Amino acid sequence: MERWLNRVAVVTGASSGIGSAIAKDLVNSGLTVIGLARRIERVKELQEKLPAAQRNRLVPLYCDVGSEKSVNEAFDWICQHYDGIDILVNNAGTLQTGQLVDMKIAHIQQVIQTNIMGIVLCTQRAYRSMRERQFDGHIVLINSILGHKLQSAQVGVAPDLNIYPPSKHAVNALTEMYRQEFLGLGTRIKVTSISPGAVDTEIIPDSLRHIANKTILQSEDISQAVLFAIATPPHVQIHELTIKPLGEII
Ligand code: NDP
Repeated sequence: MERWLNRVAVVTGASSGIGSAIAKDLVNSGLTVIGLARRIERVKELQEKLPAAQRNRLVPLYCDVGSEKSVNEAFDWICQHYDGIDILVNNAGTLQTGQLVDMKIAHIQQVIQTNIMGIVLCTQRAYRSMRERQFDGHIVLINSILGHKLQSAQVGVAPDLNIYPPSKHAVNALTEMYRQEFLGLGTRIKVTSISPGAVDTEIIPDSLRHIANKTILQSEDISQAVLFAIATPPHVQIHELTIKPLGEII
């Protein structure tokens, strides 16, 4: 991890759950973390809970990752105040319950805009910063088990995850597309997809929480996987890490 000491990581969705844990663990590992979220008051609360010596290395910053304007404003600010972005953790994600066949189109679009376009918008800005400085950085994508496999059908039950699994399947394809682009463009920038099963956070709908019962991961289990992926030597690229709670049935 020494090569990341005093480097700058941007973590999207740092106000809650997995993103908060990643931000905290990266700060603890010696990085400066720009914690992006719409609810920056929650990132400030996280900052206040850090040991005093670490507090100034977590920087809360407003960003709606689904908005090109908001992403550009946030990343412009980061580039003005720091040398550049060395690690980007695309963690922000959203889930709306309902069925594709009759739910509000605006809710479906919001998931696509956050879970897919948020990654595309933030990764463009992080890549630009890495390229300008000829720095071999790392892009991490927080994917999901549901990006690889859908839950099995249950008789008489209409699933309520709608566009969320398709949005995470897109994250799989994005991971490989970025890998090929980074390679083809002659960089040594790494990309890693991390796919958790159920994690005990606010995003989990009651339908999944019920299935998960006690077989559930904690946010720290995922942040430790991020640390593992970024700590690999320059010739090693973790392409995909799938993390299931022991006993998970899907
Ligand atoms: P939470 O609901 O606890 O956190 C979601 C985070 O995403 C919040 O910090 C929220 O910040 C942020 N976010 C949502 N929309 C936006 C937006 N438009 N702009 C900026 N930030 C946004 O859930 P998790 O911590 O569980 O989710 C983190 C990631 O992990 C997601 O990508 C999720 O799909 C994935 N995941 C979660 C699993 C689980 O079981 N919990 C399993 C597999 C994957 P704010 O609202 O303040 O903007």
